[in-house]
Amino acid sequence: MTVQNVQSFVAGRWIAPGDDARQIASAIDGQVIAQAGGAALDMQEVLDFARSTGGPALRKLTFHDRARMLKALALELNKHKDALYEISYLTGATRSDHAFDIDGGIGTMFVFASKGRREMPDGQVYLDGSPEQLGKTGAFLGQHICTPLLGAAVHINAYNFPLWGMLEKLAPTLLAGVPAIVKPATDTCYVTELAVKIMLDSGILPAGALQFIAGGVGDLLDRLDCQDAVSFTGSAATALKLRSNPRLLGNAVRFVAEQDSLNASILGPDAEPGTPEFDLFVKEVHREMTTKAGQKCTAIRRILVPEDRIEAVSDALAQRLAKTVVGDPRDEATRMGALVSKGQKADVLARVAELGAEVQRLCGNPDDFADSAGAFLPPMLLLCADPDGAQRVHDTEAFGPVSTLLPYRDLDHAIALANRGGGSLVTSVITHDAGVARDVVLGAAAYHGRIYINDRTSMKESTGHGAPMPHMIHGGPGRAGGGEELGGVRGVKHYMQRTAVQGSPDMLTAIGGTWVPGATQKDGGAHPFTRRFGVLEIGETIVTAPRTVTLEDIAHFAEFTGDTFYAHMDDAAAKRNPFFPGRVAHGYLLLSFAAGLFVEPNEGPVLANTGLDNLRFMKPVSAGSAIHVRLTVKAKTPRNADYGEVRWHVTLLDQDGDKVAEYELLTMNAA
Ligand code: NDP
Repeated sequence: MTVQNVQSFVAGRWIAPGDDARQIASAIDGQVIAQAGGAALDMQEVLDFARSTGGPALRKLTFHDRARMLKALALELNKHKDALYEISYLTGATRSDHAFDIDGGIGTMFVFASKGRREMPDGQVYLDGSPEQLGKTGAFLGQHICTPLLGAAVHINAYNFPLWGMLEKLAPTLLAGVPAIVKPATDTCYVTELAVKIMLDSGILPAGALQFIAGGVGDLLDRLDCQDAVSFTGSAATALKLRSNPRLLGNAVRFVAEQDSLNASILGPDAEPGTPEFDLFVKEVHREMTTKAGQKCTAIRRILVPEDRIEAVSDALAQRLAKTVVGDPRDEATRMGALVSKGQKADVLARVAELGAEVQRLCGNPDDFADSAGAFLPPMLLLCADPDGAQRVHDTEAFGPVSTLLPYRDLDHAIALANRGGGSLVTSVITHDAGVARDVVLGAAAYHGRIYINDRTSMKESTGHGAPMPHMIHGGPGRAGGGEELGGVRGVKHYMQRTAVQGSPDMLTAIGGTWVPGATQKDGGAHPFTRRFGVLEIGETIVTAPRTVTLEDIAHFAEFTGDTFYAHMDDAAAKRNPFFPGRVAHGYLLLSFAAGLFVEPNEGPVLANTGLDNLRFMKPVSAGSAIHVRLTVKAKTPRNADYGEVRWHVTLLDQDGDKVAEYELLTMNAA
C-alpha cells in the first residue's frame, strides 16, 4: 500500500510533510497508511494570509452571500461523500459511524447555510436585540451589534470526528466572515485533508478563507492577538496547556474548549422493565457505547439506574452487547469498528485500569483482541457498586467503548451523582414522568451543557443522546471545558465582537440597515406598494388619511365576526373594566381598517402578506375617534431572484396623535 503524504495548505500553496513527519497507521490492521507534519511552515505567513487576504474577502460579502457559500460547499462535499466514506474506514469507523461524522458534518453546514439566510440580515452588521431608548425623547438610542473579528480563527480538532469536527467549527466561522486555520488531530488528518481538498478545488471559497495545517502548529498560538480566536476539542490536559499560553492570556484571545466529559444517562424511577422507557434506555446506552467504538465526546460514560433495577438493566445490556459484532468496519456484519489507533487502545485500557477496585467488569474481555493487528476492543460494561465512595468513575474518561453502571437510591441521589462529573456536555433522563424530568433539569442543568429527555412520545423523532444538533449548543461547564459551540446563530457570534453602538436614530439606521423609530421617514414619490423590492428604500413612508370609527362599525364587526365580547357591546360593563373608558372598537377591527387605509388595491409588486410581528394595542379607541396609519419600510431581506421579504413598521394613531397600535407587517414583494 502506498503511504499518503498528507499536505498542508497554507498561504495559497500545498506543502508536503517534512523529514520528521509522523507515521499514521490504519486502525484496522496497523499498516502505515500516511504521514503528516514535519514541514517548516512559517506561521506568521499563515496568519498574515488569513488576516490580510482571507478576512477582507470574506468581510466584503454579506451574511447571505456567506450562507450561500456554505450551502455550495455542503453540496460539493455531498457529491464526494463516497470517497470520504471510503477513506474513513481506515480510521476504524463503520458505515453507520460515517453517518455521524460525514453526513452529520455536511448536515451541520446545511443548517448554518439555512440559518444564515433566515435569521441573519443580507448585510454586514448583525443586530443583537432591539434598540434601547437612552434619552427622554428618543433622539439618542443604543443598539448592540456584532461584526466579524478582524483576525483568524484557529481550529484545533480531535481525532474522533475528522470531518464533523472541522465543519461544526468552520460553518459558523465562515458565516461570521472570519478566515479559518484548521489543524486536525494527526491520527485522522488524511480524512480532513481530502475534505479540505474538495472544498478548495471547488473554487467556492475566496483565497485565504481556509488554510489547513497537517501536523504541529509550531509557534502559531504565540502570534495571536485579540482579533483571533482559538476553538479547541480534545483532552483536558492539552486544553489546559494551550489556554495557559501567556500570549493568549496576555491578549485575552478567545479560547473555546470542548474537552473531557463524564456524561451520564439516568433511567427514570418510573421506568420499570416492560415499559417503553426501559427498552429505550437500554437501546440508547448500547448505541452510545458502540457508535464510533465509544470515541464520542458525548458518549454515556456513567449509567445511572435505580438500585432495584441494576440487574435487569445489566442483563438487557449484556444481551445486546453480546450480539455486537466487532471487526473490520468494511464488513457488512460488523456493528462496531476499531479504535483509531493502538495508542488510543492502550490509553483506554490504562484508564480502565485506573478505575481499579471501584469497578468490576460485567462483560467485554479486552484479551479477546490482544493479538489483533488492529486497534480493536470489545464493548466493556462495568459496575460501580458504591458510587458515593468512588472517585475515579466520576473523573476518569476512558475514551472508548466503556461505560459504568451506577445504582442510585432516589432521584436526588441520581442528580447528585450526575453532577459529580464536575460539568459535562450532556446528561440524559429517560422517563415518562414530567415531574422527574423537571426535577432533573432544576437539579442538574447548571452542570450540563445539554439535557436530553426521551420517552415513548418523543422516541421516534428523537435525535439521540450523543448527537449534538447544530441548532442547539454543544459544550459544557467545568470538566467539559467551559465552552459553547453551535446553537445556531449563537455559534456564529463566537467569531464576532459585540459592540454597544450609541447615537441618533438616523445613525443607527445607517449602521444596521434597519429603520429605527425616530429616524428620517422618506417619501418615495409613489405608494410603496407600487414599488418593487429592489427600489424600495429603508425608511420610505406613507401616512394615510384618517378614518372615523363609528358605533355602527363596531356593531357590524361584532355581528359579522361573532366577536361580541362585552367591552365592544355593553357600555356599562366595559366601564366596570379598568382598561376601558366604555364601549370600544375591537383591536382586529382597527387592524382591518388600517389595512383598508394603507393598501394599494391594484395588482402590483406586493405578492402576499405573510404575517404580523410584535403587535401591541396601546390605547382603546371609542366610537367617534379617527385613526390614521403610518407605514414605513423597516427592513428588506432578499429571498430569491424573484422576490424578497419587506418588514414594515406600522403605527396606528388617533386624532390626538397618540399611538393606538403598533406592529410589524411582513410582505413578499416582487424583485
Ligand atoms: P489531544 O488533546 O491530545 O489532541 C487534540 C488536538 O490538540 C489534536 O489536534 C492535537 O494534535 C492537538 N494538540 C496536542 N498538543 C498540542 C499542542 N501542544 N499545541 C497545539 N495543538 C496540540 O486529544 P486527542 O485527540 O489525542 O484525544 C486524546 C484524549 O482526549 C481522548 O482519549 C479523550 O480522552 C479526550 N478527548 C475528549 C473529547 C471530548 O470532547 N470529550 C474529544 C476528543 C478527545 P495532534 O493530533 O497532532 O497531537
